[in-house]
Amino acid sequence: REEWKQKEKQLETVAHLAAGIAHEIKNPLTSIKGFLQIMLSEEQRQNKYSDIVFNELERIEDIVNEFMMLAKPEREKQMVRTSLPEIVDYTTSLFKKQIEEKSITLNTSYSDGTFQVLSEPKRLKQVFINLIKNALEASTVYGTLTIEGEEKDDLLFVRVRDSGKGIDAETLKRIGEPFFTTKEKGTGLGIVVTKKLVHDLGGDLTFDSEKGKGTTVTVTLPKSK
Ligand code: ADP
Ligand code: MG
Repeated sequence: REEWKQKEKQLETVAHLAAGIAHEIKNPLTSIKGFLQIMLSEEQRQNKYSDIVFNELERIEDIVNEFMMLAKPEREKQMVRTSLPEIVDYTTSLFKKQIEEKSITLNTSYSDGTFQVLSEPKRLKQVFINLIKNALEASTVYGTLTIEGEEKDDLLFVRVRDSGKGIDAETLKRIGEPFFTTKEKGTGLGIVVTKKLVHDLGGDLTFDSEKGKGTTVTVTLPKSK
């Protein structure tokens, strides 16, 4: 147990460092991208090399943004009582376009309960952004995305279920490893960050999947009194 505690502490330090570096990279990166756009003529921008440059810059941006989420909130944490269904509604609305593009059926349902959780809304939103993004990326046209909330004693469960391509056993073992991705343009950081954010709230994240059938990710959170 001591060993585990020490590992957790190390992770905390590394996360803090990564977030700090990401923060420092963010501004110069934004300048580079912005000025490059101004410097290049219309013709130069059509060039295949500038395509590569912008794609790679966007890749750095994605990684930087993910790492920045690991930053400890400055000074005091902004923990407030948050309505979980409101967070979920807000997050799904961000994906309206992708949901329509693939003609995905979205179902949302909740058991009886208040679904109040003590959290920082911005971070909790990020949790569902990452999970819904993965679910939609795994989905083909006419799939279903189901979000189910359940309140049981002192715990809240939110299941994000897709009918997408699923995950094989080998891949399942590796999910959450930093930089592990099966996607061409993935960062392999979404679940790392999501796990950290959920753990910071005293919760947990579990995967249940069957290759070819779909995936269910369950977020467990303590209920706010
Ligand atoms: P990324 O999305 O950038 O690849 P993530 O950490 O979000 O990184 O996810 C890691 C990997 O886990 C993905 O590349 C994918 O293989 C797998 N994965 C996560 N969620 C799902 C899902 N809902 N369906 C299928 N595979 C998933
Ligand atoms: Mg992802």
